[in-house]
Amino acid sequence: MTSTRWLAEYAWLPEQAEPTADVLIETVDDRITGVTPLTPAGHPDAGVDVLVDAVRLPGLTLPGLANAHSHAFHRALRGRTHGGRGDFWSWRDQMYAVTTRLDPDSYLALARAVYAEMALAGITGVGEFHYLHHGPGGTPYADPNVMGAALVAAAAQAGIRLTLLDACYLTATVDGQPLTGPQQRFGDGDATRWAERVDAFTPEGGHARMGAAIHSVRAVPADQLATVAAWAVHRDAPLHVHLSEQPAENDACRAVHGRTPTGLLAEHGVLRRSTTAVHATHPTSADVGLLGEARSGVCLCPTTERDLADGIGPARRMADAGIPLSLGSDSHAVIDPFEEARAVELDERLRTRRRGHFAPADLLSTASETGHAALGWTDAGRIAVGDRADLVTVRLDSVRTAGVAPAGVWFAASAADVTQVVVDGRVLVHDGHHVTLDVPQELATAIAAVAR
Ligand SMILES: [Zn+2]
Repeated sequence: MTSTRWLAEYAWLPEQAEPTADVLIETVDDRITGVTPLTPAGHPDAGVDVLVDAVRLPGLTLPGLANAHSHAFHRALRGRTHGGRGDFWSWRDQMYAVTTRLDPDSYLALARAVYAEMALAGITGVGEFHYLHHGPGGTPYADPNVMGAALVAAAAQAGIRLTLLDACYLTATVDGQPLTGPQQRFGDGDATRWAERVDAFTPEGGHARMGAAIHSVRAVPADQLATVAAWAVHRDAPLHVHLSEQPAENDACRAVHGRTPTGLLAEHGVLRRSTTAVHATHPTSADVGLLGEARSGVCLCPTTERDLADGIGPARRMADAGIPLSLGSDSHAVIDPFEEARAVELDERLRTRRRGHFAPADLLSTASETGHAALGWTDAGRIAVGDRADLVTVRLDSVRTAGVAPAGVWFAASAADVTQVVVDGRVLVHDGHHVTLDVPQELATAIAAVAR
């Protein structure tokens, strides 16, 4: 049993509009066992000076941040695909080219480096939306879940928790064209065989859990949607689905099915409280109503959506409809939860030409508690007794954060300001460095092996 007393210069506690000064946080193994503000009103007798055994956390300590939408291998495209013309669809062709060079070993190395980059940014849990299942030409590996196992191992080695959102991916278009070329590696044939493959897999290690994904209404025919949804219900697992990232998807779905993608998912029982729609950039008002009624979540990926010229999702309107919002770095154009979170507010400002749609505390919960819950970790994302001992400390003395009011980190800080990260009670990042991995070197080596 390991007990630790941490003394945070500032800590952002649940339900608080802004951080609290001088907070004693006690942890035993992977759990928070005490949270005590020491000044000014909390315990006036327990002065900060007497806590000689406590580990000092200078700066602002946040709960663990969640990255609810990742495709680890997309990191290999960063800085290589931003200069030309085109859109989501032309970028996708470049992304497919990388898949042809990935195997279980190269994917493990790349994903470990990417998850370690996330750790440095304060991310303690990731949702990996995983669809690169099979070998070249779609031939299953001897172990048909070896690619998923590589991702689970990668997260363990990088030190963060992972929800493997195993994606069902069957067709190339809404009207059911078959998978061809690189897409063949994604397919299981039909949803029943997808479920059989996923049922045969149990992730190794307490850091990982299973979830399901419907890649999109392009990739799963309407008559197979319920099979995936039923698997998720039966396993009490989160279910994620790419939704209305592109107007072209909405148009194709209306042409084939006479309804929007959200309408189609609702009709087939996909929208539930444990469901998260990823993007939801172009929903109709009726779509927002359906998601809100079901209490389904939406995972916004603002830096990817801006990079791919997708558009701006109606974040405030969705939150007002009762939809919990989470955040994902998706294509990993950047991995920076601060940039992702402030974009939720700043994009609304650009759209409405008005300020003040989301308070800093709203941005915190979007980046932490809601994201972990969307991944099935309902005991993470709050500095509260009984929750997982995840602590992310942001320095307030960098060139970006010096002189900033602590609550202002959401508008001023970057991932580079994260100095210390504790995951499940273990120090993973210290003094801005990963405790076991040379992350820039690992990224450079792993990407050189698969990018052109
Ligand atoms: Zn995605």
